[in-house]
Amino acid sequence: MNNMKRIIALIAIAVGQFPISGSAADELVIYSARNEQLIKPIFDAYTAEAGTKIRFITDKAGPLLVRLKAEGANTPADLLITVDAGNLWQAAHEGLLAGINSKVLNKNIPAHLRDPKNRWFGLSVRARTIVYSTARVKPGELSTYEALGNPKWKGRLCLRTSKKVYNQSLVAMMIARLGEAETEKIVKSWVDNLATDVFSSDTKVLQAIAAGQCDVGIVNSYYYGRLKKKQPDLPLALFWPNQKDRGVHVNVSGAGVTAYARHRETAVKFLEWLSSEKAQNLFADKNMEYPANPKVKPHPDVVAWGGFKQDTINVSEAGRLQARAVRLMDRARYK
Ligand code: FE
Repeated sequence: MNNMKRIIALIAIAVGQFPISGSAADELVIYSARNEQLIKPIFDAYTAEAGTKIRFITDKAGPLLVRLKAEGANTPADLLITVDAGNLWQAAHEGLLAGINSKVLNKNIPAHLRDPKNRWFGLSVRARTIVYSTARVKPGELSTYEALGNPKWKGRLCLRTSKKVYNQSLVAMMIARLGEAETEKIVKSWVDNLATDVFSSDTKVLQAIAAGQCDVGIVNSYYYGRLKKKQPDLPLALFWPNQKDRGVHVNVSGAGVTAYARHRETAVKFLEWLSSEKAQNLFADKNMEYPANPKVKPHPDVVAWGGFKQDTINVSEAGRLQARAVRLMDRARYK
């Protein structure tokens, strides 16, 4: 079967799963790149509270976008939920999401965590920050992302692959803040300091530091949280960089209403609920992320990592500058 046929076959299956005729107003169809274990309890809570039936599929962001695009006006999906502003930006850029005019969302979600055209909204915040070995590094030796390129870290730095959207977003935001030439210099200096080949996951970066293969790295804070939960004695700690200037690089998990949603009003109501004080902990806590709504406190385990100043540049920049970031990392030989 060629690729196009395979896509059409998949769509046929999808449409079969969600028969369009007789769809009631109080139901939603959701495509989610957040996995079932994180998202199902939230759907269940909403169904219990509002009576809205929710049907959903989960997949990686890439395949979900391909699917939405191929389905076009025939999509059964009302909402797309995914991680990383780069992915949300891509969905909006391809015309897959509709703009929403909601006072509730505009009030609950800070401006830098949502699309300037209101086609998607960050619902939880993930911090991509520095992690270090408490056995071999003192926090006073750390300062900024840029300073990880200092020769004192030669052979001591571990990084995840540049293929991961998280690092593409980090570098894209550095381009936005520092310019392309300066960012390229910094990324090259990181590559010069690598202790070993890049890793396929943040967790492997954390494990390599704990095992003594390297001393510092860059990870999303929730991977640190997960690993420490399993192995509390690991000699690792988080460091919040750039506190004297732009702040820690943050990204979002978020959602948008699809351009062809059949239950648009219901979808907006659900998004508003997700941004509310009562639902924000449901969305953020299970993955040890930060609520996007600043009125809501993170889980106590997350609060224990300490407060930090976050970069308030609009996270959509991660999408706008993604292609440039990828080319830059390629030139810097960051694999
Ligand atoms: Fe992740």
